[in-house]
Amino acid sequence: MTNPQNFASHTPMMQQYLRLKAQHADILLFYRMGDFYELFFDDAKKAAQLLDISLTKRGQSAGQPIPMAGVPHHAVESYLAKLVQLGESVAICEQVGDPATSKGPVERKVVRIVTPGTVTDEALLQERQDNLLAAIWQEDHRYGYATLDITSGRFIISEMADITTISAELQRTRPAELLYPENFVNVALFENNKGLRRRPLWEFELDTAKQQLNLQFGTQDLMGFGVEKATLALRAAGCLLQYVKDTQRTALPHIRSITMEQQKETIILDAATRRNLELTQNLSGGSENTVAAILDQCVTPMGSRMLKRWLHTPLRNLDSLLNRQQAIAGLQAYHFELQPFLRQIGDLERILARLALRSARPRDLVRMRHAFQQFADIHAILDKIESPYVKNLQSRVSTFTSLQTLLEEAIVDTPPVLVRDGGVIATGYHSELDEWRALAAGANDYLEKLELREKEKLGIDSLKVGFNAVHGYYLQVSRGQSHRVPIHYVRRQTLKNAERYIIPELKEYEDKVLTSKSKALAIEKKLYEELFDLLLPHLSALQTSAEALAELDVLNNLAERAETLDYRCPILNERPGIEIVAGRHPVVEQVLSEPFISNPLDLSPQRRLLIITGPNMGGKSTYMRQAALITLLAYIGSFVPAEKAIIGPIDRIFTRVGASDDLAAGRSTFMVEMIETANILHNATEQSLVLMDEIGRGTSTYDGLSLAWACAENLVSQIKAMTLFATHYFELTNLAEKQEGAVNIHLDAIEHDDTIAFMHNVQEGAASKSYGLAVASLAGVPAKVIQRAKQKLIELEMLSTLPANKSIDNSQRAKVVEKTIPPAIKTLEELNPDALTPRQALELIYRLKEMVK
Ligand code: ADP
Repeated sequence: MTNPQNFASHTPMMQQYLRLKAQHADILLFYRMGDFYELFFDDAKKAAQLLDISLTKRGQSAGQPIPMAGVPHHAVESYLAKLVQLGESVAICEQVGDPATSKGPVERKVVRIVTPGTVTDEALLQERQDNLLAAIWQEDHRYGYATLDITSGRFIISEMADITTISAELQRTRPAELLYPENFVNVALFENNKGLRRRPLWEFELDTAKQQLNLQFGTQDLMGFGVEKATLALRAAGCLLQYVKDTQRTALPHIRSITMEQQKETIILDAATRRNLELTQNLSGGSENTVAAILDQCVTPMGSRMLKRWLHTPLRNLDSLLNRQQAIAGLQAYHFELQPFLRQIGDLERILARLALRSARPRDLVRMRHAFQQFADIHAILDKIESPYVKNLQSRVSTFTSLQTLLEEAIVDTPPVLVRDGGVIATGYHSELDEWRALAAGANDYLEKLELREKEKLGIDSLKVGFNAVHGYYLQVSRGQSHRVPIHYVRRQTLKNAERYIIPELKEYEDKVLTSKSKALAIEKKLYEELFDLLLPHLSALQTSAEALAELDVLNNLAERAETLDYRCPILNERPGIEIVAGRHPVVEQVLSEPFISNPLDLSPQRRLLIITGPNMGGKSTYMRQAALITLLAYIGSFVPAEKAIIGPIDRIFTRVGASDDLAAGRSTFMVEMIETANILHNATEQSLVLMDEIGRGTSTYDGLSLAWACAENLVSQIKAMTLFATHYFELTNLAEKQEGAVNIHLDAIEHDDTIAFMHNVQEGAASKSYGLAVASLAGVPAKVIQRAKQKLIELEMLSTLPANKSIDNSQRAKVVEKTIPPAIKTLEELNPDALTPRQALELIYRLKEMVK
């Protein structure tokens, strides 16, 4: 950046620029110059790189050429969209003074600040995705968190007792912009996020926060919202609100309350689980083959966004869930009828946000009008539906007949994009406007007459009236006839074959026309602003209606999905356990070209740990995930891909799946595994559904097996969680005999020679073999290697049958045994394998195996 000391040596324009830039030091400043927004100095270099535009130099200021880059003003939206995507904020500085009357550089002002978390322009937003601004605050190990969806006014706070929970919350909400205090300790939590904003500590002051919030909601205190005690979260909320005000520079009437989210009201999903279940994002970051991709056929973008929120926050409240189920059932006979009308509603939610910020464009109002026009039909269909919850939603959708009439009368059918272009307000809405418009339009008629008159008077048949932006109205005569024009014709422009003239009468008329045009435009702008004033008093009712319509869209969509995809209504009750008849994986069944094999599931307090064995590719992961997804769908109120499902209370869903993607992030697979496993063991309860897939893989066989064993044992005997445990450690199947509540099941496969056919159906009992070799040969491992592996396997299997084995000598064996077995048993002869704990037995087997390697 330039040295402020030589400020005075800059040109006046550069001085103006630097003054403005100083107020927006850490964000890009788009400085309007004519038809361009220009960036200077470091901003120019940064923008050139981010936007792939060329970096040039502009003259000299303070003795140095100034680096400069620019974007044309008519294309600014697309550049802003790109910057916002990259997490950058931009201050837009416009010329506000009149160039004709200003001495020195024309007056300029920053009129808006575009930031990733506060954008409301349609062009800058992903239609079917929430765009959140968030703020975080930390005290010791506890966190306060606030998020705002400025396009709906949803303002939510929560508090978390530990780092795992906040990490899950960050993963769920994925804020476009995150504000954090400058002294924040655990920055590693979000260091890979875009749109990070480090804020000074004082912005998180508690008293200021409360004041700000009360001011926003027009309240005395925050008691009514039940958030008074959430001091950590309130600090975050205060900083967030201040930031929105600073960037928006306008009132925010659509943000009218704050809600505290209680963890106990929802089924908790940690960050890894959200990732693994591929709810709205697949493991490679895309949206294909996710649950949302199958389930979301909502016809409005606001419905789509709501459904995605539902998928990430399964509810625990049975009444709310029963309401949703009942509404889906009620809508089933009507969804085809309702859908086309709902589709016409469009994104009412975001239109209302732009209305609240007074930035709604003419087409927003047209779409709002179009939405209102559907309300009567929607009500007529809903009248026919019995479901009490549908009736409840219907009662929240008001009719806005007077507003509809207002917009029908005020706005033309298809208005231009911007009000400043004119032609937005309809004829007949305002008589003065109509008069000025008539005057402006009357010109055509007048000009035709003038042209005819002059032609005849002068006998010049090539004479015609024209208009261009530089010269205004003119009379054009061909070169050949130009000698015939009278003296009061003043030449304005010479073309190749023609001359152009003006005459006083024409000039006079032109002034009149231009005045009428600008008068009309001024009136239009005023009327447009007045429309906001007329609509805004209804904002709250409009928001309520939009939300109810979005929910109707979601439920109607779930009704359609249930029918199309053959889903059934699950039974939710208070009895612990999960019973599924003929369950399917909602995503795999859709992407598979072969038929999907449905499978049952039976989990109960008496049968709470299912150890799942079977060959690789046998369907273990699919089976486990389908259990979690069916449960999750049931707990958002949806119907589920199963013939029957009876599901008891669930507080959390955990998944631990063989990690590989974290390797890139620099953590070893084993570390990731340990961290995630520890999280499960600390937090799971009897009501948790736990999926463990191939735990222990990331380490040596021995460590891996011990880890898996200890983990399974703990889950079944201490925690008593409902657990599906897939493993390739065949030894684990022994647990079923030793532990009450542990049961073996397996995925079936038929082996033939060196090939294998996967049946994908679940059977009771342990799998007969690990099938690893057959699968390896399928995968193209050379026959020689497989042969060698087979020999090895036989050796190992012999070894593991204790105590008699001849392949290693007894003294060696005794040494190992000594190390492992209880001190009271000194010799191998005394060893009774049944007296060993499972862990000792395992350790013994594995040490012996190591020896023959
Ligand atoms: P594993 O975890 O045992 O290695 P997966 O669950 O990854 O096996 O399944 C491997 C593949 O088998 C899946 O990609 C899918 O194509 C197919 N598959 C799994 N379960 C089924 C099923 N129930 N019906 C049909 N195909 C299935």
